[in-house]
Amino acid sequence: MSDTEVRARPGRNLDYPYQTRPELGESIEVVPGVHWVRMRLPMQLNHINLWVLEDGDGWTVVDSGIRNSETVEAWEKLFAGPMGGRPVKRVIVTHLHPDHIGLAGWLTRKFDVELWITRTEFLLCRNLVADTGHEAPREGVRFYRAAGFTEELLENYRARFGGFGHGVYKLPNSFRRIREGDAIEIGGRSWRVVVGNGHSPEHACLWCPEANVMISGDQILPRISSNVSVHPTEPEANPLQDWLDSCARLKSILPADVLVLPAHNEPFRGAPLRLQELIDDHEENMEKLVALCAEPKRAVDVFPALFRSRITTGVYGMATGESIAHLNCLRFRGRMRRSPDAEAVEWYRSE
Ligand SMILES: [Zn+2]
Ligand SMILES: [Zn+2]
Repeated sequence: MSDTEVRARPGRNLDYPYQTRPELGESIEVVPGVHWVRMRLPMQLNHINLWVLEDGDGWTVVDSGIRNSETVEAWEKLFAGPMGGRPVKRVIVTHLHPDHIGLAGWLTRKFDVELWITRTEFLLCRNLVADTGHEAPREGVRFYRAAGFTEELLENYRARFGGFGHGVYKLPNSFRRIREGDAIEIGGRSWRVVVGNGHSPEHACLWCPEANVMISGDQILPRISSNVSVHPTEPEANPLQDWLDSCARLKSILPADVLVLPAHNEPFRGAPLRLQELIDDHEENMEKLVALCAEPKRAVDVFPALFRSRITTGVYGMATGESIAHLNCLRFRGRMRRSPDAEAVEWYRSE
């Protein structure tokens, strides 16, 4: 099999030890005391995995699902069923995206417990939620216009602005900070907080060397390349370099046979392989961009170098953010130059 065939189907060379997935409202015990729960998502990525950990006379929950009535019902079913009426004692959230943090405020209020999360994720999440109900800012319109958005696409951006908050239940007003290197004791085992950056600013993974398990959130996914985007709030950011550095660091510390419990797809072994595959894919995509931008291109012109599928309106903003992340990374490496035309649209040309 050629190299390209392996890449065409990411994650196929990994080991997936579980043949079945938990149904809605049910759970599967993947290692003693660690239960796999799956919730539906109303989007193209149609599910999320959550982890419910035995913790003395109750449970520690890792990630919460998106805010909607279906997910609330699924939780109620779990409380009454597999969770045996025992209380949730703490809610840990890996990062700020609504599929992960959406019901954290509901769970913490219901059980009167704390939200454990990194500081940057908590603060940025509150910030993004506060955008709901506000008009799209000038900076955002300028950013997407510079990327090459048409008036119609800009209108779509304006219409969708603030949508983040709809997927998030009212957040708690305080939180318990977790950070890189912390050890959290859960059910008699020590879980180490390992922080990654790039997909979100301070994403927490939980690694238990004793059980040889890592709850990876969106930091390591077996078959999906996590979105790494530049946003209008920080147009000069270089999240792709952060992401590549995080992948390299995780690869250097994780054992080859660690069981990875990802937020999407299925549990797998082969983290170092997968991390290298992610690094290689991004580096390869950047080389494609360098070739493509021999003639000047706008951010919206480079999708074919990065994505296999056609980019629809619904994911246009995300694809643009991801394109700019790759272009910015190349600019910081001195391999891409950017200059605006008379309409303030930015054109990229490789050096
Ligand atoms: Zn995410
Ligand atoms: Zn996710």
